[in-house]
Amino acid sequence: MSASPDMASIEAAVRDATPAVYWSDRTFAPDVGDPLTGRHDADLVIVGGGFTGLWAALHAIEEQPGRSIHVVEAERIGHGASSRNGGFCEASLTHGLLNGLSHWPNEIAALTRMGDENLTELLADIERHGIDAAVEKTGTMNVATEPWQVEDIAEYAETLREHGEEATLLDAAATRAELNSPTYLAGVVEPHGTAIIDPAKLVWGLRATIEKLGVTVHEHSRVSAIDAGQNSLTVRTARGSIDANRVLVATNAWAEPEKQIRNYVIPIYDHVLMTEPLTPEQMATIGWGARQGLSDWANQFHYYRLTEDDRILWGGYDANYYKGNGMGPEFEQRIDSHITIAGHFFETFPQLAGLGFSHRWAGPIGTTSKFTAAFGTKHDDRLAWVAGYTGLGVGASRWGARVGLDLVDGRRTERTQLAMVRRKPMPFPPEPLRNAVIQFTRGQIAKADSNEGKPGPWLTLLDKFGVGFDS
Ligand SMILES: Cc1cc2nc3c(=O)[nH]c(=O)nc-3n(C[C@H](O)[C@H](O)[C@H](O)COP(=O)(O)OP(=O)(O)OC[C@H]3O[C@@H](n4cnc5c(N)ncnc54)[C@H](O)[C@@H]3O)c2cc1C
Repeated sequence: MSASPDMASIEAAVRDATPAVYWSDRTFAPDVGDPLTGRHDADLVIVGGGFTGLWAALHAIEEQPGRSIHVVEAERIGHGASSRNGGFCEASLTHGLLNGLSHWPNEIAALTRMGDENLTELLADIERHGIDAAVEKTGTMNVATEPWQVEDIAEYAETLREHGEEATLLDAAATRAELNSPTYLAGVVEPHGTAIIDPAKLVWGLRATIEKLGVTVHEHSRVSAIDAGQNSLTVRTARGSIDANRVLVATNAWAEPEKQIRNYVIPIYDHVLMTEPLTPEQMATIGWGARQGLSDWANQFHYYRLTEDDRILWGGYDANYYKGNGMGPEFEQRIDSHITIAGHFFETFPQLAGLGFSHRWAGPIGTTSKFTAAFGTKHDDRLAWVAGYTGLGVGASRWGARVGLDLVDGRRTERTQLAMVRRKPMPFPPEPLRNAVIQFTRGQIAKADSNEGKPGPWLTLLDKFGVGFDS
C-alpha cells in the first residue's frame, strides 16, 4: 500500500483545485435567464429557485395547468445548496431514522412511509419528464472508523431492521471488500432508500420542465420585500414587482425576505472537494463495485460518492457558522477546511496518493435545532415558508415543497397535520449569544468525537431539550 502524502503535497493539491462548484462549472450549464422587470400579476410567486422552489412550481402547475406562476431567484437557479450538494437523494424526511425517532416517535411510521413514497415519486417524476439527473440507485454504507463506533453502528443496523428497513452489518474485512480503506472497522449497508444523483442536472432539468409547462422564471432578481395589501401580496425586486394571490418563500439558509425564518434557520457552511476522475487502475485499488454513497459514523462526519465519470466527491466534517448569520462568497473558499478534509481523504485512501482535486467549494446548509425543515405561514396564510432541511434536503425538499403548497393553498392534509409540520423547532438565541453557543457546541462535538463519542454535560443537556447542532 502506498504511504499517504505529506501535508505539503496535500496543501498543494488543494490549492491547485479550481475554486468553484464542480457541478455548475460544466460546459453544458444553461444560459442565464432574464431578471424581473416591470409590474406583473400572478396567482403564485415562489421566492427562491432551489429544489424546494422548483418542485413546488412543478407540482403547482401540474395540479392546476394554466395557473399563473413565477419563480423569482436572486442569482442563478440552483445557486444555493441545491447545486452544491453531495447528491445523496435519501428517502428520510427526518435527517435519518435515529433523529426522527428521537423527536417524533409517535409519527415515525407515517414519516418513514411518506419518505419512501416521496423518493419513489421523485424518481418517477424525473423519468416521466425525461430529466437526465444521472440517477444511480446505489443505497448507502455507513462505516465505523473508530472502535467506539463499531457497537454504535451494530445498534443502528438493529434499529433499522426493527423499523422494517433492510440493513446488513459487515465486519472490517467485509466492509473493506465493498470499498477498500484501511480505516474501516465495520459497516452497515442499506441497499434501498438512497439514490445518488447529479444535483445540478436535476436543477436544470426541473427548470426546463417547469418552463415548458408555462411557469415564468426570473434570475438575478433578489426579492427585497413582500408587502401585504388587502387583496394581494406584492413581491418586490430592484427592477420589478409582482402582485400575487399566494407566495411561497423557499430561500432556505438565506432566510430572506421573511425575517421570522431567521429565528429557526441558521446558515452553516459545509465544504466539498472533487477529485480528478480515477483511472481504471486507481478504481481497482479501492473496489467500490456497488458505488454506494458513504458516510462515516463520527459526529463530525464525512460523506463521499462517485460521479458518473468516477471522480470522488468528498465533503463534510468541518461545518462552519459565521457570526451574525454570515453568508456570501467570502465563506465559500475556506482553505483550512479544504486542507483538513483533503488530509482525511488520503488517510482514508492512502493508495490514491498523487490523485489531484479538480474543484473545491462550500455551500450554505440551512439548519434547524431539530435538523429537519421548519414551516410557517403569515398574512392570513397567503404566504408560507419552508426552510432548514440541514444536510438532508435533496429528497426531502420535494416533500417540503408539497407541504408548502398545502399550507399556501389552505389544504388540510396528512402532511400538514404532522407535529413535525405544526410545531416549530426551538429557536436559536439571538446574536451575540447565538455565535457563542454555536461555537461552544461545535467544540463540545469535536471533544465527544475524540472521547469515544461520549457527550459531555453540555451536549447531554441540549439532548434533554431535544435540540442540537449538525450538518
Ligand atoms: C455542501 C452541501 C452538501 C449537501 N449534501 C447533501 C446531500 O448529499 N444530500 C442531501 O439530501 N442534502 C444535502 N445538502 C442539503 C441540500 O442541498 C439542501 O437541503 C437543499 O438543496 C435545499 O434546497 P432549497 O431549495 O430549500 O434551498 P437552496 O437550494 O439553498 O435554494 C434557496 C434559493 O433561494 C435563493 N434566494 C435567497 N434569497 C433570495 C431572495 N431574497 N430573493 C430570491 N431568491 C433568493 C438562493 O439564491 C437559492 O438559490 C447539502 C448541502 C450543502 C450546502
